[in-house]
Amino acid sequence: MEKCHEKVIFSHLCDSNFTLRIMFEDKDARTELSKLGEFGLIKHLAEHIKLGNPSSVKGIGDDAAVIQFENGKQTVVTTDMLLEGVHFDLSYCPMKHLGYKAVSVNVSDIYAMNASPKQILVSIAVSNRFSLEAIEELYAGMLLACEKHGVDLVGGDTNSSRSGLIISITAIGEVDKNDIVYRSGAKPGNLLCVSGDLGSAYLGLQILEREKKIFMENPQIQPDMEGNDYLLERQLKPEARKDIIEQLKENGIRPTSMIDISDGLASETLHLCTESNVGCRLYENKIPIDQIAMLRAQEFNLNPTMCALSGGEDYELLFTIEIKDHDKVKKCKDVIIIGHITEKAEGANLVLTGTEMLTPLTAQGWDALLKK
Ligand code: ADP
Ligand code: MG
Repeated sequence: MEKCHEKVIFSHLCDSNFTLRIMFEDKDARTELSKLGEFGLIKHLAEHIKLGNPSSVKGIGDDAAVIQFENGKQTVVTTDMLLEGVHFDLSYCPMKHLGYKAVSVNVSDIYAMNASPKQILVSIAVSNRFSLEAIEELYAGMLLACEKHGVDLVGGDTNSSRSGLIISITAIGEVDKNDIVYRSGAKPGNLLCVSGDLGSAYLGLQILEREKKIFMENPQIQPDMEGNDYLLERQLKPEARKDIIEQLKENGIRPTSMIDISDGLASETLHLCTESNVGCRLYENKIPIDQIAMLRAQEFNLNPTMCALSGGEDYELLFTIEIKDHDKVKKCKDVIIIGHITEKAEGANLVLTGTEMLTPLTAQGWDALLKK
């Protein structure tokens, strides 16, 4: 029988909660899922799950969870599925990180509506390749992210899978009717803003793929992750930007449109423009790219701007604000203005650094990342 996550191929990552080790699964510590059965597993997992939000009326244990938000609040619901071999690779993604990421990417969608996540439902499909200990790690990661975002895990579903691991998470959030932000509200003259930095998660993935390849060819060679902690964290343990939503609120800014960056800056900017029926001008020299990301991109012969535009998985927030909020947004930490919204007829354009030439923004595939 295949074992689960036999080898995590690198030695460490800085965050103390998430020490990555070269892990050879300890046979003694392996409890077969078949020993517990579906109900035993659910019961076991539920023992560690506590409810914290007043709106979580009933969690795990009945036919359905019960949720009650205050009057006047709207409910925001989103779901995302992660498939082994498509969205994650267990040879370098530890189960705890995977759990954390699965929750992060879901609550990120809730924040992108300017809402607060409150509950999640977690559905998993697992094969007997996984031990109880591996599933416990997955849930430990999920619960850590839940704690960080003030979210209750209120239910889910458990199934067996004949192939890889499948994780599907549904997140539920609440928002005041007047605060909700859609993709469709951007207007000409609005400023285009983004949080954090972009392209790092994609470069983290490139490093992991490179080291995996080397490791597969020669397991004696220790993976070289030196100096790449930040990029690896961006890939393996993305943070949904709760802090940005809070700062916007504190500074009295209600974005006119917003989206989270899962597929790359270009693709998400185009979504905002299409949904809002507008054009935009995005300045290449304003795109935030981390220094290490810049260096690694060059080593991989990738264009750093293209990594930011088309790399994806950064889970930052992209939003537009009215020009009157310019001074307020300047007070927000880790947010910068990267362009502005124009009339639709002007198109969605990137202003190239140096030449000031305009080039139409396009959502490109992976090939586009290669340096010309
Ligand atoms: P049903 O047969 O009605 O689908 P289940 O036995 O699947 O009921 O689920 C029983 C309870 O356990 C429900 O509250 C459900 O939401 C919860 N649950 C099932 N699987 C999971 C899981 N993987 N994670 C969290 N809660 C779960
Ligand atoms: Mg069920």
